[in-house]
Amino acid sequence: MLITADRDRCIGAGLCVLTAPDVFEHDDDGLVHVLEQEPDARLEGDVRLAQQLCPARALALETASPQST
Ligand code: SF4
Repeated sequence: MLITADRDRCIGAGLCVLTAPDVFEHDDDGLVHVLEQEPDARLEGDVRLAQQLCPARALALETASPQST
């Protein structure tokens, strides 16, 4: 899972920071800063919830495609 945040869209509502504080923080401008672009799988639920709650639709998640071995 790869997280990207569009800071041009972020309005600093902070729901992502409240929902997944290990992954998101506010920077000095009050906008989102991604602490962990590829967080541990155990945080995936929180990250997905943060994405859904973000009122600015500023968060995007990419899930790695399964690798064939
Ligand atoms: S929830 Fe969305 S708008 Fe609010 S700080 Fe996070 S990315 Fe920005």
